[in-house]
Amino acid sequence: MAYPVTLIPGDGIGPEVAGATVRALEATGVKFAWDRAELNARLIEEAGLELPQAVLDSLAITHVGLKGPVTTPVAGGFQSVNVALRKKLDLFANVRPVRNLPGLKTRYQDAAIDMVIFRENTEDLYSGLENEIVTDVVTSIKVITRRASARIAKYAFDFARKLGRKKVTAVHKANIMKLGDGLFLRCAREMSRRYPEIEYQELIVDNAAMQMVMRPEQFDVLVMPNLYGDIVSDLAAGLVGGLGIVPGANLGERDAVFEAVHGSAPDIAGQGIANPTALMQSAVMMLAHLGELEASARLQNAITTVYREGAHLTRDVGGTAGTAEFTNAVIAAMGN
Ligand code: NAD
Repeated sequence: MAYPVTLIPGDGIGPEVAGATVRALEATGVKFAWDRAELNARLIEEAGLELPQAVLDSLAITHVGLKGPVTTPVAGGFQSVNVALRKKLDLFANVRPVRNLPGLKTRYQDAAIDMVIFRENTEDLYSGLENEIVTDVVTSIKVITRRASARIAKYAFDFARKLGRKKVTAVHKANIMKLGDGLFLRCAREMSRRYPEIEYQELIVDNAAMQMVMRPEQFDVLVMPNLYGDIVSDLAAGLVGGLGIVPGANLGERDAVFEAVHGSAPDIAGQGIANPTALMQSAVMMLAHLGELEASARLQNAITTVYREGAHLTRDVGGTAGTAEFTNAVIAAMGN
């Protein structure tokens, strides 16, 4: 049987890393029926759409997507289609595992970094509710609800319990946003009481950022509202080799879209040098989601082997290889 999966290459380096990841996935031996859906800045601009219906129609059938990044214009232009997709499908949990890859030289290579960030994915300042109430005075509305906060907290604690993780840290700024972040924190705290075997900790986001740089090995599972999750996961990516490494999954009750933490990297797009590791590791998560545990482990082991050997790494992590050479090495490491 071939798994129907919606393939969204995106734009910028998206098509390059998506092409590489499809090659690696197909080399696992698992069969996929790819339904390719276009989602890119040019299309959105030309069509004037929030989100092309074809993408939603495809995901309504497949329920699983593999997605490259899509460019969002800064300070003007259309709203982020990445955010729109997460909201439309109610992909409420953004899950980002951050781990050192054995052999990869980083400033933190000797630290035992192994954390999973759970970012609330549907609200907060990403509600897109902004108003210029009078000239040069703008309000951006931060939306925090009990429903969304409790379900991301439950997701993080359930994950911790299932995988035998020891600690959950809730990250917030409830000393300043007493109502909004206060509600988020209350939901996390209430949820923690149902999981007495798991240590529960609360950290103010600025302190969490400092702690992460000073002693990243203290973190296990983290749960936080949308904006802090966005920023903290890039910070965490920087600890383990950068944005070329860290994968992600957007998960809802019914649908799942797997995409890297990084964006469309316009500075290196089209040059054949993007690091596809982050999307490949997102594909490792996708295989596990599909129940293909053996193939998932095989792809992860192949990536790990290529890093341990260090001969075919891309430039962002200190090598000289291009996207294709790295991908060939991963495929070869799977015994193909
Ligand atoms: P970015 O993640 O695209 O790039 C930041 C830096 O990291 C750049 O120097 C880039 O070259 C490097 N980098 C990122 N991924 C890499 C990879 N796989 N291999 C090698 N180097 C890599 O962040 P940005 O420049 O702030 O954003 C560019 C665009 O991407 C923006 O329009 C932003 O809105 C969009 N974006 C999209 C998503 C998404 O689709 N989910 C996520 C983040 C940003």
